[in-house]
Amino acid sequence: MSVGAAASSAVRMDDVVSLCARRGLIWQSSEIYGGINGFWDYGPLGVELKNNLKALWWQKVVRERDDVEGLDSSIIAHPRTWEASGHVEHFSDPLVDCKACKKRMRADQLDDAGACPARQGTSEHDWTPARNFNLMLKTFVGAQEDAAATAYLRAETCQSIFLDAKRVRESARQKIPFGIAQIGKAFRNEINPRNFTFRSREFEQAELEFFIHPNEREKWFEHWLDQRVAFHRALGFGDDALRVRPHRPDELAHYAKAAADIEFLFPFGWQEIEGVHDRGDWDLRRHGEFSGKDLSVTDEQTKERFTPMVIETSVGVDRTCLALLCNAYAEEKLDDGETRTVLRLPSAIAPVKAAVLPLAKKIGEPAQRIAADLRRSFNVFYDEAGNIGRRYRRQDEVGTPYCITYDFESETDGKVTVRERDSMTQERIPVEGLRAHLLDRLEKAR
Ligand code: ATP
Repeated sequence: MSVGAAASSAVRMDDVVSLCARRGLIWQSSEIYGGINGFWDYGPLGVELKNNLKALWWQKVVRERDDVEGLDSSIIAHPRTWEASGHVEHFSDPLVDCKACKKRMRADQLDDAGACPARQGTSEHDWTPARNFNLMLKTFVGAQEDAAATAYLRAETCQSIFLDAKRVRESARQKIPFGIAQIGKAFRNEINPRNFTFRSREFEQAELEFFIHPNEREKWFEHWLDQRVAFHRALGFGDDALRVRPHRPDELAHYAKAAADIEFLFPFGWQEIEGVHDRGDWDLRRHGEFSGKDLSVTDEQTKERFTPMVIETSVGVDRTCLALLCNAYAEEKLDDGETRTVLRLPSAIAPVKAAVLPLAKKIGEPAQRIAADLRRSFNVFYDEAGNIGRRYRRQDEVGTPYCITYDFESETDGKVTVRERDSMTQERIPVEGLRAHLLDRLEKAR
């Protein structure tokens, strides 16, 4: 097998999108009806990848700490929530329409509008003045369809964390500083969904709200920014692909003291994948006011009451999946002149950890027994059809770290060939102990 491959230069978005559709990672929702703009489906391999990312986040942010608790709240909250949070009044983007071609755009993204097809003389659009367009998706709860029954699909997962903060703190017997973490769907009626899953109308967020004493804002902001950058580095995002962009004072929300975006270099440019914000006491104070409930706590030492301040980390699960795919995608020229597409995903993220490939159908049975044993520990793909080289390529293309080939020699020597995705090196490993061997290598590669 030839090694010594050279990675191709810049990744093209079209290649990533077409691989995702072809191999059942991600495609447009409601495809058979022509699709619905801004909504995406994750197929058999996509859901594994996404679940692996969420599990890793949960592991790092919740399980490895004793000062963070998990939560899974409802998507629809009391409508007053969104009045208190400021979303009903302020969660809008400036919208303009072209009077000639009817194109609708965000006023701050007009550079991307292209020429106006209806005004070929000038090719410039004839924009209306900008007006505010609220991004929250509305629905009705109960049998009535009137203003009193109006509710919102959450625009961010964090608001319920604030509503539940007191109960979580008391039931989990936590003290300030402590955090609450949640992963879940959020909905925004984006004016121009675009760049594949990057800007969607339905997406997932993984958010942490960390409640602190007002004297410790800077310390915890730095702590969480460091933690989150380390998380993305461990996903394989190097210096050339990941950067931190602190917000300028004029970008900060009026209640925020500090904020930074963690940005990834996508094929379409540097874009935010995560925000780390010092939200002050804005949310708890507002929910306290609107609900009439006291959400303050007592300082253990001074016995004074205070409203905790909040440091938030908010990462887009879909955006990070997309960053992982763009970062991992490579086309390599092999020594034999062939080109292979390979997803160099971290093994913790790879949808399938190992593929079991018997060399021929007639030795399928022992190979299936190996697959069944490996499945006790991780996700395994079994495939006995077709040329072995082509089967390897199919696994490379979806980032499977190990291919295990059972051949005729295996029948007598009790060994299988383990081929590693990136180096394409192969070694003979005894079937006995194979699961432990792979588990060890997967663990070390984390
Ligand atoms: P942007 O400026 O790109 O619209 P934002 O600053 O509004 O993003 P936040 O409200 O801070 O985003 O949300 C936190 C995270 O949620 C973002 O970093 C991003 O990863 C994710 N996110 C926000 N909007 C979308 C969307 N429309 N589609 C996919 N992910 C999103």
